[in-house]
Amino acid sequence: MILSRETPHFLPTKGMKSEYYDRIFSMNIKRRVIPTEEIEKQLAICSEVRKEFEGKIPLALVDTFGCQQNEEDSEKIRGYLAEMGFEMTDDEFKADLIVINTCAVREHAEMRVFGNLGALTHAKKENPNQIIAVCGCMVQQEHIVDKIKKSFRHVDLVFGPDELWRFPELIYTVMTKRKRIFAPGSGDGCVAEGIPHLRSDKVKAWLSIMNGCNNFCTYCIVPYTRFRERSRQPGEIIAEARELVAAGYKDITLLGQNVNSYGKDLESSVNFAQLIRKVNDIEGDFVIRFMTSHPKDATDELFAAMRDCEKCEKHLHLPLQSGSDRILKAMNRYYNTEKYLALVDRVREFIPDIVLTTDIIVGFPGETDEDFEDTMRVIEKVRFDAMFTFIYSKRVGTPAAEMPDPFTREQKQAHFDRLVETQNRISEEKHREYIGKTVRVLIDGKDREDGVLTARTSGGRLVRVSGGESLIGSFVYVNITDCNTWALRGELV
Ligand code: SF4
Repeated sequence: MILSRETPHFLPTKGMKSEYYDRIFSMNIKRRVIPTEEIEKQLAICSEVRKEFEGKIPLALVDTFGCQQNEEDSEKIRGYLAEMGFEMTDDEFKADLIVINTCAVREHAEMRVFGNLGALTHAKKENPNQIIAVCGCMVQQEHIVDKIKKSFRHVDLVFGPDELWRFPELIYTVMTKRKRIFAPGSGDGCVAEGIPHLRSDKVKAWLSIMNGCNNFCTYCIVPYTRFRERSRQPGEIIAEARELVAAGYKDITLLGQNVNSYGKDLESSVNFAQLIRKVNDIEGDFVIRFMTSHPKDATDELFAAMRDCEKCEKHLHLPLQSGSDRILKAMNRYYNTEKYLALVDRVREFIPDIVLTTDIIVGFPGETDEDFEDTMRVIEKVRFDAMFTFIYSKRVGTPAAEMPDPFTREQKQAHFDRLVETQNRISEEKHREYIGKTVRVLIDGKDREDGVLTARTSGGRLVRVSGGESLIGSFVYVNITDCNTWALRGELV
């Protein structure tokens, strides 16, 4: 099945330049499922790699940039590395293999990657046999691969997110053939089951339910680097969730670029609300979280599932991006502020004390003072519990990159600072409402600096509480005594 203007859950932007249509419509969305035997072959190659080190325990460093999906991909890379006999290190001079898992969402992340790659020339000089690999969304862009080919000759391997399933084969080829390999991928997304994970956390786990995105927001590079939406089969997801619960995980986050459209690409499948109910049916005391939702696919059915499922977090992260209808249209977000505000009212009808968080982009090309004031009005009206704010970052290859952008960085920074100041005030006011209340939280870690335990409410609010490390991984009750913009403070009940 090829993408066509009729493909139901695919809505490109009106007035989008034809070349974007051509690029988008040339992308194949036929589900490419990697056969289990192919993954078994990769696992067999892991033993061949192990033999290459003749009993020495090799060391690997995996450096991850960007989103939770990249974190989850790095857990797979570490899982494969453990199968190859590698142990992990943070020291690039001791590492036999370095993997940089990159992000392409903002220019800043790309600049940091190039900075790190430059610095690695020293480590490579000290250990010429060291292998340096670069993967993730950045290398899904031709101009980036060309730059690495020409300017970073100490990089041995480049592979795209969709080639991760054959990482062992790629490493083995580099090791045995001592040649550089560039495998950015074919441009049509795949689904690969059975890749081992090495998770760094013992309480919280990422559980990927789908990959890719069909929304084509005009500022976003993700649809061009992670390709079309493809969901994992519900049975695979439920099985993995069961394993996580059996392994003692207490906080499971269902991951996808747009989880609300889960299952739309599967012949017979459950939708996202039904999936939450199925995970909720698993025996055990744990919390289900999810990210990221797109307002266009947020439904009453989802809100009812969030209300009815006792394990489901009472938190919804619903990216607004802008409060100006003119800018939302230019962003290709498929909703206007009226629709968005109606959604907010709806979810608050279903769950009155729902925690609402959002993303806002400031300085989208052409955003005027009036547009920004529209955003400020919506922020004051909704009163989000927290917000992730970004100044627009031009991404080569996206339609917005070609839109006129007359306003200066300084003008955008001024808007950004005002937005942050306003939201910080609202967040603190919202936190003040918890003082004197007793809340059930999951203790999920310890602050390295002051040793205070960190915990999360079912709404995802950060709570800091004093107590013994043995409490990590437990649900406890905390009486909230104080707060600031970013966290609540409490005492164990
Ligand atoms: S929904 Fe999110 S991931 Fe998809 S195109 Fe829009 S911003 Fe990018």
